[in-house]
Formats: sequence, structure tokens, C-alpha cells
Amino acid sequence: MKITALAGGIGGSRFLLGARAALPDAEITVIGNTGDDITLHGLRICPDLDTVMYTLGGGISTERGWGRHAETFTVADELATYGVGPAWFGLGDRDLATHLVRTQMLAAGYSLTDVTAALCQRWKPGLRLLPMSDDRVETHVVIETDEGRRAVHFQEWWLRMRAATPAREIISVGAEKARPAPGVLDALANADLVLLPPSNPVVSIGSILAVPGLREALIGTPAPVVGVSPIISGAPVRGMADACLRAIGVATTAGAVGAHYGGRGHRAPGGAGAGAGGGILDGWLVDTADTGTKVPGVTVKARPLLMTDVEATVEIVRAALELAGV
Ligand code: GDP
Ligand code: CA
Repeated sequence: MKITALAGGIGGSRFLLGARAALPDAEITVIGNTGDDITLHGLRICPDLDTVMYTLGGGISTERGWGRHAETFTVADELATYGVGPAWFGLGDRDLATHLVRTQMLAAGYSLTDVTAALCQRWKPGLRLLPMSDDRVETHVVIETDEGRRAVHFQEWWLRMRAATPAREIISVGAEKARPAPGVLDALANADLVLLPPSNPVVSIGSILAVPGLREALIGTPAPVVGVSPIISGAPVRGMADACLRAIGVATTAGAVGAHYGGRGHRAPGGAGAGAGGGILDGWLVDTADTGTKVPGVTVKARPLLMTDVEATVEIVRAALELAGV
């Protein structure tokens, strides 16, 4: 079975651990968010791609959920004594090697797709990890300050401001000119099942959908599309997705996020009729705490959605397969 999943960082990776365990024989392709990418100290950093790669490759810090296991921060400390920031971005020594390899390869003319594949040769995540685009797309957040409106990089808003300064707008800079990376559209068109893990609906899934052609490919795929809610009982399980949802005028509820993705419309075998609904979902899994949630044009099922360990996550993936009817 061919499965294609869209993924951000921590929520996406944890879900993918469950997908790989539930379906050891499946061919899993992951379309990773690169909207969080940032250049610091001249190095190109792709936090979400790395979180997927490290988590599936067994190198992640399980306590933090991001960055490397057994990490040290000597270089970051040395930079701080030079007074060179930003101090709010945790740049570990082991992690730096990844960014050095990536930056060097990009400078030599390799695409981000090639670089990601090369990095994955070491980590062997057991799935194919593709960036959403080889073109530069960066999420910026418009905030109101005493000096007026200004835009900051998503990482500065998320990490330094802890998303506490209200976002007036969240913009995918460069998205309108970006092209899907090689293999991305094929992975959606030729999948047997498309999964939307419980990643941030705005700055993870939303930024992937901002790449022209991606949304259309989801609407048009003959495969069933099933999503898993990152929102349980009106709150994100982890992180500040509520601050992102507020910026786009979507309530922080499983139902509102499902409706924001929208229903694809009737899906007959072979895909006939798909797309009539204009949305991207056939099925939406919500937590049992949100039993009774209704989303127009979407089949909603309630299951325990806390990814406490791989076994619990495997059950979520099985529920998604059941809902998709594959
Ligand atoms: P990020 O890029 O590291 O922020 O990670 P993602 O975008 O992939 O995922 C973040 C989302 O995962 C947050 O909105 C959380 O609410 C959600 N999340 C984290 N843990 C769980 C969990 O155990 N269950 C569910 N349903 N969602 C979760
Ligand atoms: Ca992210």
C-alpha cells in the first residue's frame, strides 16, 4: 500500500512513528513542511524536516521532542559569549553538523530534495521524506508593536515571543512562486491513502497547502484523505496552535479545524465526484472527548487521539485506515 502524509515537526513525526509501526510493508511518502526554515549564522536550517528525520531515524531528543539526543550546546554558548544571537534558537552541536552538510550541498547546487535524501541515507527513517518545495517559502507573522505593524520570521514569533504577541496575519513568503518539489504531486496522485497527521493546521499543514498545486492535488487524488485532529477539548495538545488559528479566524475546536480543511464531496470508487466539496477531507478523526463533532461533507469518527506511546499511535493509524476503508 502506498501512503502519503503531510507533516510538520513533532506532531507529524510522532504520528509517522505509529504509521510505520502499524504498516511495516507500506511505502510511506512524507511531504514535509519547509515554511519554518530559517538561515542563521549562514546555515540553512529545516526544523520540521529534521524533526521527522531524527524521530524516525532514532536520533531525536525524546525529552524535548526536537533536536538531537545527547546534545551539547558548546557552539551556542561560545556564540553567546561573543554576543552573537539569536539566543532564542536552540542550536546544538550535533545538530549543527546536519546544517553544515545541508548548507554546503545547497551551495554546491543540489536541491533541498537531494540534500534531504542524502541526509536520510544516514538516518534511514524507513520512509521517503520530501520537502514540500525546493523553492524558498518562509512563514512570517505580522504583529502589532508600539512602532506599528511589522513582520517577524515565524521562529522569532514562536520561540522568542512564545506566540504571546497576537498575530494579525500569517504569511507564506515566496509561496505563490514556489513549485511542489519533484515527486510531491505524483505521491498524492498515486497514493492508496493520504493522511493528515495532527500537525499544526496553519503553520505546518497550512504552509504545505500554500504551495500552488498542492491543495488541488489533494482535492483531486483518487485516494481517500483522512485527517487527525491536533485539537482536543478546545485546546492544542502541545504548543500554541490556538494562537495560529486565531490569526486566521478559525476557532480552536476539532470541528472548526475539520471544517477549515473542508469536505471533498462525494467520493465514488475511482475518485469520480471527488472535489465537488472544494475541501480536502473525506474523513476526520477527533478525540473521544469531542464525540458528537460534526463537519459538513466529512465522515467524523471519535477515538482516543493522545499519542502517548507508539502503541497508542498505532491504534490512531488503524482508526484512520478503518475510516478510509482501505
Ligand atoms: P511542530 O512543527 O513541531 O509544531 O509539529 P506539528 O505541526 O507536526 O504538530 C504540532 C501539533 O501536534 C500541535 O498542534 C499539537 O496539538 C499536536 N499534537 C501533539 N501531540 C499530540 C497528540 O498526542 N495527539 C494529538 N491529537 N495531537 C497532538
Ligand atoms: Ca514546525
